[in-house]
This record gives sequence, structure tokens and C-alpha cells, in this order.
Amino acid sequence: MAQYDYDLFVIGAGSGGVRAARLASEFGARVGIAEEYRVGGTCVIRGCVPKKLLVYGSRYGSDFADAKAFGWSCEDLRFDWPTLIRNVRREVDRLNGVYARILDTAGVDKSLTRATLEGPHEVKLADREKTLSAKTILVATGGRPVIPDIRGKEHLISSNECFELEQLPSSIAIIGAGYISMEFASIFRGLGVAVTVLYRGDQILRDFDMDLRDGLADAMRNRGVDLRMNADIASIEKEGEGYRVHLKSGDSVAAQLVMAATGRAPNTSGFGLPQLGVELGWNGRIAVDEFSKTSVDSLYAVGDVTDRVQLTPVAIQEATAFVETVFNDKPTPVDHTFIPTAVFSQPEIGTVGLSEEKAREMYRSVDIYKAHFRPLKATVSGREEKILMKLVVDMESDTVVGCHILGDDAAEIVQMAAIALRLGVTKAQFDATMALHPSVAEELVTLRHKWEAPAPVAGSDAAA
Ligand SMILES: Cc1cc2nc3c(=O)[nH]c(=O)nc-3n(C[C@H](O)[C@H](O)[C@H](O)COP(=O)(O)OP(=O)(O)OC[C@H]3O[C@@H](n4cnc5c(N)ncnc54)[C@H](O)[C@@H]3O)c2cc1C
Repeated sequence: MAQYDYDLFVIGAGSGGVRAARLASEFGARVGIAEEYRVGGTCVIRGCVPKKLLVYGSRYGSDFADAKAFGWSCEDLRFDWPTLIRNVRREVDRLNGVYARILDTAGVDKSLTRATLEGPHEVKLADREKTLSAKTILVATGGRPVIPDIRGKEHLISSNECFELEQLPSSIAIIGAGYISMEFASIFRGLGVAVTVLYRGDQILRDFDMDLRDGLADAMRNRGVDLRMNADIASIEKEGEGYRVHLKSGDSVAAQLVMAATGRAPNTSGFGLPQLGVELGWNGRIAVDEFSKTSVDSLYAVGDVTDRVQLTPVAIQEATAFVETVFNDKPTPVDHTFIPTAVFSQPEIGTVGLSEEKAREMYRSVDIYKAHFRPLKATVSGREEKILMKLVVDMESDTVVGCHILGDDAAEIVQMAAIALRLGVTKAQFDATMALHPSVAEELVTLRHKWEAPAPVAGSDAAA
């Protein structure tokens, strides 16, 4: 008789958990999985997928506006939020079913309930008496939105609730300026909502390349988003049909809805981790080694709960590497460098590798190549917005260490550039690549001139 009920028990059926459960089962392991909400996890149910569908929906307004100069007339345009959100939910339901079937087909024993750890090999499911045992347990419980601890925080919604709105608000105040804030600000603005972003720092998108940050902030302001930096929130109170957000400066902002987009915290509380002596990081993340093993031998963790890089493809890669290591006898670490990232704002950001600022800290000399241009389409549509393309190059080796794009299709272009950067592409190899004309992406292989920082103005502080 087997010593344990399962070879592997997975807690959380999101991007990482589903991948690990299915692969381990395909390697012949007896696998169980518990999910307390909906199979598919954040990405499928209330993250990447429904968000990207809302992004598509929100972009038609500007597409219709651009279409006029190309001869189309688009009178009597109307937008119906209930139609959009209903169709998005239908797709989420479909994917939820697809993910559940993936587990069933792979022979994974699936339980729709909350799991708690009772020992290094023991799991308790909320809906049954008996404690289950497993040789290895994988924690893939993801993260949750952080709600700032301010007076009136009970009035805040998070990105989770945005997918449940029955009506589109006329105005929204969004607290925070990370990628989720920028994406929802663009979605709501694109749908005609008055949007105010409140952020206590001095520029949006901390840790991104400064040109991207400045460029996106300017473009969003031009599209009518009220971006307010150095805005520290004091409290939120109900006012009429909406709310008033009070700032520490004494100013205030009225909005029909107030959303917190103030980061995500690892889901590590309340299911027995500290009792087992699992080492946690400063923000509650599970500390793991390069093979995703925790400080307890039988316990592994992948995805957002480890807070390495909070992205779906990263959770999936970590899960794949975990299964290779534990169930296929092939120790596989995950390479967390050159992870391409997008911000599906309007305009869009695609970025991979080091920002100029980070590269200057890491390398002795850095060359910058950049282009700031109006795309061909805009010459007819009349849209003023420019595209930014930027390469960051280590001068000594000529290696391209960063590629940053702000503009249409940035994410699609950067996914391809990421392959080249990962392989150690040099600037000379970019230059030797034939351009695809006419395209936006061709600018990346025709960036000939190094960008020179403007000389300091005599007598200014910078010159002193
Ligand atoms: C609004 C938004 C937009 C995003 N957009 C993108 C994007 O464009 N691109 C991208 O790459 N990433 C995006 N992400 C991030 C991405 O969704 C996550 O990185 C990814 O889902 C992490 O996968 P995971 O498996 O670690 O966790 P999750 O997918 O969060 O899955 C964890 C699961 O565990 C369950 N769970 C938790 N505790 C228990 C318990 N005790 N018992 C049973 N079940 C439990 C949860 O219900 C959840 O289903 C976005 C996230 C958000 C919130």
C-alpha cells in the first residue's frame, strides 16, 4: 500500500498550479489539487484574460475616431457596458471549463474547496473530515490585491471588482500608478469615463525605463487622464452617489468609484505556513531556492506566492521546472532574466531587459539609441501621438541589454525582440537585420545614431 494518498498535492488551481498538476500527472504521479474559488486562477478569472478583452473593447473609440480620415463615417456611435462585460464573463466561464477539463483529462483529483496545511505531508480540505497525505506539496496560491490602510478603505474596490461592475461609472479615481492602474485607467478612459489617477510618487510605473514612464504619462494626459503625482491619500468618504477622496495636501477628488491599484501581496496567510516553519520573506512571500523548494523539504512553491516576478508565463515556467526537477529527475532552475513585459495601456508599452537607469548602474558605459516618430497611419488619421523605440546597449560588448517600446503593438514586437536579447544579440546584429517595410518594428533595425544627452545649460544647477 502506498505510504501517501498522493505523490503530489497542489494548493491553488491558477496558472502555476494547473500546469504543475497536469504535467506531474502525465509523468505518472498520483496528483490531487484544491481550488477555493475558480479553476484557472487570477490570470483566467480576474487578471490577464478578462483585462485584455476589456482593453480590446476600450480601444474601438479611438479606432473609430482615426477611421474618419480614412473615409469611414461612424455616426451614432454608442457603447454598451453590459454587452461587453457579459461577453467577457462568457469567455471567462468557457476558459474556466477548459481548465477544469484539462485537470480531469489528465486524471488529477480535483477538489473545489479551501486547503490548509496540517503537516509537511498533510493537507486538510475544508469540505471533508479526513486529512490527506502527499509525498510532495506544491503551494501555488497566488496573490491578492493590497488595500491601503486608510480611513474609508471599505469604500475601495480593487481590480477584482472591476470585472463585476454591472454599470460603467461616470468617473473613477484610481489610487496607485503601477501597470494595473495604468491599464484600468486606459480602459475606463477609452470607454468615456472621467479618470483621475492618484499616486504618492513623482512618476508613474516605478522601475520602468524613464523614457517610457515620461512618454506614457504625457500620452495618457493628452488622452484626458488626470494623472496626479505626489498625491498622498488621507481618507475616503461617501458623498452623494459617489465618494470624495481627501489628499494629505488638503485637496480632494470626487468620483463615482474609487479603485485601489496599490500592488498585490502573496497569498500566504491563514493556511498553516508559519506553523510548519516555512520561511517567509518581508512581505509574506514564500522563500524558495532556484528549484522552487521551500525551507521545508517536502514543500515547494511557484508563482505569485513566491513574488519572484508576478506574471503568468513566469508561474507556468516555474511550475514546469518544478515538475521536471521532482518528477522527471531533471533538476531545472528557472531563468528569470529577459522576461518581456507589457503594459496594455493606451498607448501600449512593451519592454524587455534593463532600463537605461539600471544599465548605467551595472555597466561602465552604456549607449542609447532611440527614435521618437509619428507612425505612418497617423499621417492620415491626424493623431499626434508618437511612438518611442529605445535600445540600451553595453558599449564594451555591443550587447543589447534593453529594448523599450511605447506605441501600438509594442507588446507584440517586444515578444520577438526578447528572443534576440536572451540570445545575447549585439547592436551590430540588429543593424545587419533587413528591415520589414513599411512597419513600425523596422525602426528597431535602423537606429543608427547614438543618442547624446543634451549638454547642460551654462549657469544651471546641472552645470555647477
Ligand atoms: C488585473 C490583473 C491583470 C494581470 N495582467 C497580467 C498580464 O497581462 N500578463 C501577465 O503575465 N500577468 C498578468 N497578471 C498577473 C497574473 O495573473 C499572475 O501572475 C498569475 O495569475 C499568477 O499565477 P499563480 O498560479 O501564481 O496564482 P493564481 O493564478 O493567482 O492562482 C492561485 C489560486 O490559488 C487559489 N487559492 C489560494 N489560496 C488557496 C487555498 N488555501 N486553498 C485552495 N485554493 C487557494 C486562488 O483562489 C487562486 O485561484 C495580472 C494580474 C491581475 C490581478
